[in-house]
Amino acid sequence: MRELDLIEAIRRGSAGKRSLRGVAVALGIGDDCAVLRVPPGHEVLVTTDFSLEGRHFRRDWHSPESVGHRCLARGLSDLAAMGAEPLAAFLSLALPANMLTTVAGQKWVRRFFEGLRGLGDRYGVSLAGGDTAEAPGGMVLADIVLVGSAPAGKALRRSGAKTGDLLYCTGALGGAAAELNSLMAGKKIRSAASPQLFPEPRLAVGTALLRRGLASACMDMSDGLSTDLAHLCRASGVNAEVQLESLPLHPAAARLSGAERRKTVLHGGEDYELLFAAPAAVKMPRMIAGVAITPIGRFVRRKAGASLMTLVGTDGMRTPLEAAGWEHFSSEGK
Ligand SMILES: [Mg+2]
Repeated sequence: MRELDLIEAIRRGSAGKRSLRGVAVALGIGDDCAVLRVPPGHEVLVTTDFSLEGRHFRRDWHSPESVGHRCLARGLSDLAAMGAEPLAAFLSLALPANMLTTVAGQKWVRRFFEGLRGLGDRYGVSLAGGDTAEAPGGMVLADIVLVGSAPAGKALRRSGAKTGDLLYCTGALGGAAAELNSLMAGKKIRSAASPQLFPEPRLAVGTALLRRGLASACMDMSDGLSTDLAHLCRASGVNAEVQLESLPLHPAAARLSGAERRKTVLHGGEDYELLFAAPAAVKMPRMIAGVAITPIGRFVRRKAGASLMTLVGTDGMRTPLEAAGWEHFSSEGK
């Protein structure tokens, strides 16, 4: 497979896809630039994410479909966090030389694109361009750019949470990290509903929060609740209290023992759920677009000496919640 063949293969799978609002890609792969149509009255949002072998995925843990899916899901989740709708994706992909010349390698690449396209098709987003190169060091390196749009001035931000607002999250927490622990222990994950292998970006929730004016601040959780909530608090200039018993546990996390479960749900990354704030007066639906919405705490005034985040236990015990920095696993394990 030469580089031209690879681009042709990508193009064949991308042609003619329609975005949710019609044709967003006026001119896609094959010219020097892609041309995108932005809906009238909308702004363009852009996000970029690396997917590096050994850092964000491992070929012995993640199937090619999973790697392709996760690559796109990371970018889509950032668009969801701001209430944006995707317009198009761009992928720069560096592959080890043997992936382009061996049958097994070409099969891996084909399955990678199947995984990426499978998710893209569901949200009406296709690859509108990219670049390929031979990777040094035998690693698969992917960099994806997502372009989306939102009504001008309305994109959800991290900075809007106010004292007295309630804190919410979508879906369930800790699943991706609990499954990562299983992978590290040498177990296999087979479920197609796996949050580690096939995380679901919450695009429909993000756009509904924006459209219905429900959220005052929003972000997606890629690094874990404690780390991401700290970002939201700092951006908004408020502190937060989290009710431990309110946190919705993913079944894979619920199976863990006490201390491990707590660590996973508070600090485990890669769930790609949304974390958002809303005024207490907002009547928040319990489900949006089929996804559970759970109140998990509230925002309080920033006070000198008080910790940015406080964990409130079942017994009402209050302890400072530290942002335990989630590091994506390295090839050495962690
Ligand atoms: Mg993000």
